[in-house]
Amino acid sequence: MICTNCGQCIDRCPTGALVEKNYIEEVWTAIFDPTKHVIVPDCSCGKDRHRGGPEHRTGQAVTGKLVSALRKLGFDSVLDTAFSADLTIIEEGNEFLDRLRRKSLFEDPEAVLPMTTSCSPGWIKYLEQTFPEFIPNVSTCKSPQQMFGVLAKDLLCR
Ligand code: SF4
Repeated sequence: MICTNCGQCIDRCPTGALVEKNYIEEVWTAIFDPTKHVIVPDCSCGKDRHRGGPEHRTGQAVTGKLVSALRKLGFDSVLDTAFSADLTIIEEGNEFLDRLRRKSLFEDPEAVLPMTTSCSPGWIKYLEQTFPEFIPNVSTCKSPQQMFGVLAKDLLCR
């Protein structure tokens, strides 16, 4: 069976046989560990459009509220993935220009075009499982979340 890890079967399971994996205890343990600096990548996109039913969606920016709530819970830092999203776009642009140059100048067979990309792990998994012949067309850049993780581990651990 092809599964993209979307989680909808857990969300809709009528019998409760499928349940979400829960890491809340591990997070609290990390928050109360004075030797740890616990961060949240703030992937809020600044709007409340993803939260609650349609009657709750106002389109208002809620980034400040989210950051305040997370800080009150005890997280040491709430950082913004907007920077790593920009990095992803820059890296993807560089990769595209590199492929274009290698293709047009040297007829490099490994410089596959067109190049496509997605920050959605589900989209990537679906492509890998359903259309593996198009894997070479996908950018090799990490998603903004993965780039954020690398940067945070590298910069905050110094
Ligand atoms: S694709 Fe989504 S709904 Fe289907 S099995 Fe996978 S997680 Fe469940």
